Amino acid sequence: MKVNNAMTVGKEHRTENHKTAFRLMLGELGDRAMDTAFFDSEKPPFNGQVLRMTWEELVRQGRVAVVGSLYRLTPDGWLVALEISGDAQSKNYQERVGHMLAAMKHHVKPRKESAILPLRQLADESGEPEGWIFNIIESRAGTSEDQRTGARWYAGEKGRLVEIPVDFNLEPIDLTVALTERHLQRIRKLEGRLAELEEERQEFHCPYCDAQLSEVHQQDYIEEHCIVTYEIFTCGYTTADGFEEQPCPYGPNWPTLDEFAFVAEREKSTLNGFGIAIKEEDSRWVCWPTAKTPRARRIHAQPGFGRTKGEAEEAAQKTVARKEKKRES
Ligand SMILES: [Zn+2]
Repeated sequence: MKVNNAMTVGKEHRTENHKTAFRLMLGELGDRAMDTAFFDSEKPPFNGQVLRMTWEELVRQGRVAVVGSLYRLTPDGWLVALEISGDAQSKNYQERVGHMLAAMKHHVKPRKESAILPLRQLADESGEPEGWIFNIIESRAGTSEDQRTGARWYAGEKGRLVEIPVDFNLEPIDLTVALTERHLQRIRKLEGRLAELEEERQEFHCPYCDAQLSEVHQQDYIEEHCIVTYEIFTCGYTTADGFEEQPCPYGPNWPTLDEFAFVAEREKSTLNGFGIAIKEEDSRWVCWPTAKTPRARRIHAQPGFGRTKGEAEEAAQKTVARKEKKRES
């Protein structure tokens, strides 16, 4: 028995694609505030790199939010992106955090109560971009174990006023620790739970295109003394006891166009609506894709029709071409 690993391959591929998505988003984000930096899945660098399925999963996981037809990182998503990229552990990141903390502490020293100042001012005084400071405060990456000591938005003035508590005494190392331990612990726990849910969900979806499971049936092969369980997904992907029986039209096992021959012919002996035979020169062209390889033979190919030979052949190519996922909205 050969080993079926379509599910595993699909899953590894998806995990890799998540990482690609986070890296590209972080690169595009730069030092801008995460709440106003939007990503277009149809445009570079995302198109052709990040699968539609990946965007959908990231939305379900709360890492990315949908804004119209665009996406943006959530605070959790930003933290995960920082972890995946390794940016949070970099010397550059720590130095920048140092600048920001020094500017914050400067306001706290002589006071008896918390300091409130515009984000803009904090940016000017620390020399770090407003957007980047926004992301740190918004994701609470600048919060230590004890929530009270971190900087936060003042009275719901998100992105405008920063409140620095009187006991504020964070060192750059605290921020890294906060990021690497508390946040990551929370993220990992959540990730584990999400992975379980995702796995359960995926059992009922095509591993390549996420189409739903539409039918499960068992067939008793009396001669062979065995019962085979078939699972059929709405995209056409079919497994028999877990082995791929019919490929997914979005997946890697779908045959390529050169595995078929396309030769159109005049449609024979057709009758018009009145039951009168259509003259040959008025009849349509029809092209049945002819499979040239074993895997092409597994496909239930449909014919293409056209007013010319070329049109029919082109139509037939479309019926067996591998499909690409498009955004639905
Ligand atoms: Zn599929």
